[in-house]
Amino acid sequence: MHAWPASDVPALPGSGRDLSLHDTATGGPVTLVPGPVARIYVCGITPYDATHMGHAATYNAFDLVQRVWLDTKRQVHYVQNVTDVDDPLLERAALNGDDWTELAARETDLFREDMTALRMLPPAHYIGAVEAIPGIVPLVERLRDAGAAYELEGDVYFSVESDPNFGKVSNLDATAMRILSAERGGDPDRPGKKNPLDPILWLAAREGEPSWDGGSLGPGRPGWHIECVAIALDHLGMGFDVQGGGSDLAFPHHEMGASHAQVLTGEFPMAKAYVHAGMVALNGEKMSKSKGNLVFVSKLRHDGVDPAAIRLTLLAHHYRDNWEWTDGVLAEAAERLGRWRAAVSRPDGPSADAVVEEIRAALADDLDAPAALAAVDRWAARQEREGGEDTGAPGLISRAVDALLGVAL
Ligand code: ZN
Repeated sequence: MHAWPASDVPALPGSGRDLSLHDTATGGPVTLVPGPVARIYVCGITPYDATHMGHAATYNAFDLVQRVWLDTKRQVHYVQNVTDVDDPLLERAALNGDDWTELAARETDLFREDMTALRMLPPAHYIGAVEAIPGIVPLVERLRDAGAAYELEGDVYFSVESDPNFGKVSNLDATAMRILSAERGGDPDRPGKKNPLDPILWLAAREGEPSWDGGSLGPGRPGWHIECVAIALDHLGMGFDVQGGGSDLAFPHHEMGASHAQVLTGEFPMAKAYVHAGMVALNGEKMSKSKGNLVFVSKLRHDGVDPAAIRLTLLAHHYRDNWEWTDGVLAEAAERLGRWRAAVSRPDGPSADAVVEEIRAALADDLDAPAALAAVDRWAARQEREGGEDTGAPGLISRAVDALLGVAL
């Protein structure tokens, strides 16, 4: 399916630095040195509701990854999926008496609008689960034929024990995995499974639910993890640079996906770094659909909030931190936006060359966006206090903030 329009990324003098990111799998920093083309896969939305601030924070983090790589003069091959058929979507559509395809199309459109407004660079390939099904079926058949998957009452499960490297993404013990599996879409208590953690690969057709031709698997629909694996292997191959998503995807989603891919290809690891963004809370609780405590990007936009202020609110928090959305953090960002816009509209200021290097250094060090904002704050404060004679400086700050932080001043 189509993604959304890309905003221009101004070129900056010099070149950015190689990016170091915290890798969940190894528990430490990994400095990525991709070739001329950097490869990243970020898990997309299940489009049954509008984009909330937790989503926006996650996509902001991986947008920064793209921007850092572009600043090193590399191309970026970015792939994102849309889980446009899955239990939550079907359940929501049924609850509202909605057609599930229309619900998915509507919410995906709204997501595109939100991403465009926030100046998130689009993926090169934006792929829906439904359109990926012809590529998913042969992968499940291969896993089954290799003895890494088995049938249970028509459904097909992946056997986690078939991957000697299972567990190396999230590094959790069996008890923690079992608890998270039950909380996050798994079915550890279903009788007949070889291992309670085994995830579904292919769900046999159910009465009243959509299904597709599954070849030798019979009619049905794909599981969530194999969906991302099929899309990632098709468009990126093994050993790509970054597998990204929210921290609630580390287990089971990224763990299972890595195992599927590793068994299918015999290669390890699937990604050089597994990178996870923190959760955004509201009123002391993680923002989530099940709790209903969501702040929607589209709602704020329709209330007249400048998307650049929303983006600056996201950037004011380190991507790995869990943080709380409040009116206060949004007001602070709006105030900063006003200060920066006033600063770059003046005819001159102190030299900005060092500021660009500070922003680059901050982002290269595990996407330290708050430190990057502080560097721009200091330049603006100095300009206000002392003035300056560099007539190129306001323009350079404006281009750097746009290119590296995605904020148009
Ligand atoms: Zn995914």
